[in-house]
Amino acid sequence: MAIVIDGKAVAASLRETVSADVAEIVARHGRPPGLAVVLVGNDPASEVYVGNKMTQCRKVGISSFEHRLSPDIDQNDLILLIDALNQNPLIDGILVQLPLPSELDAGLILDRINPAKDVDGFHPVNVGRLSTGTGGLIPCTPLGCITLLDGLFSDYRGLNAVVIGKSNVVGKPLALLLLDRECTVTVTHIATRNLAEITRHADILVAAAGAVGLVRGNWVKPGAVVIDVGITRVVGDDGKTRLLGDCASDEMDHARAVTPVPGGVGPMTIACLLSNTVRAARSILET
Ligand code: NAD
Repeated sequence: MAIVIDGKAVAASLRETVSADVAEIVARHGRPPGLAVVLVGNDPASEVYVGNKMTQCRKVGISSFEHRLSPDIDQNDLILLIDALNQNPLIDGILVQLPLPSELDAGLILDRINPAKDVDGFHPVNVGRLSTGTGGLIPCTPLGCITLLDGLFSDYRGLNAVVIGKSNVVGKPLALLLLDRECTVTVTHIATRNLAEITRHADILVAAAGAVGLVRGNWVKPGAVVIDVGITRVVGDDGKTRLLGDCASDEMDHARAVTPVPGGVGPMTIACLLSNTVRAARSILET
């Protein structure tokens, strides 16, 4: 039987570390790290995500500042808010919840965030640092995935890693993290031919496509580690909503380890946001 990687437990342990780090920052600098969360509009899923982030901040002692804005906010006003948050000495991290309404230029807004406060790791400066292996803030979901993998591998050199999905949020940054650990990395996507043939060579297989049950048992090499990033909300015949991953979870017995959905990568994402906020605070307060 494959080990089921307990993302909730790893996330809880990461939060404990963050709590201790926050206490140490308060003792040294007289204030906790501060995270500003900007929510534009009233998308129900985004409201849930933002609510969870604020709650978790409170639990570890990070000050959170919520900015809820009307969906028809003028782009210039949003930029002025970002500028003010960049200047605010109590704020170490700025997160703009995505997606933004289509009338707004998300790229322009994210680029406005001071890279030192870019706890989502989406600013081109941080993307560049990740791709050159020169530090910077790393996007939370790939950071969560690699943290789970680091618990299983001390030496990745020469392992075949296959990443399904090439988004800027998950696939590409995770591929860079695996490359940095000297895996041989293959990044695949919707136009990849013979995907199953490629995944069968993977020692580490990451599925981040958002396609329910895409990865079947016979796509997975015996002994592989499978990280299922996909989260798709599906309403069942009973009217209940379930979260489903990209992997056929009941076909993975021959894997070495798998992440469940929910309870795998998901809890790690917010925990990594907290740890990125601590990292940003340290670099702002201590340099
Ligand atoms: P995205 O839509 O931006 O990118 C999806 C990628 O998968 C694309 O590169 C696409 O080419 C590829 N793809 C789609 N269908 C495919 C298929 N059938 N075969 C091969 N490749 C395929 O999505 P994203 O933002 O990268 O998110 C991916 C999934 O991860 C989604 O289910 C999302 O909900 C989930 N997600 C989870 C977390 C978390 O905290 N666990 C965080 C972010 C995203």
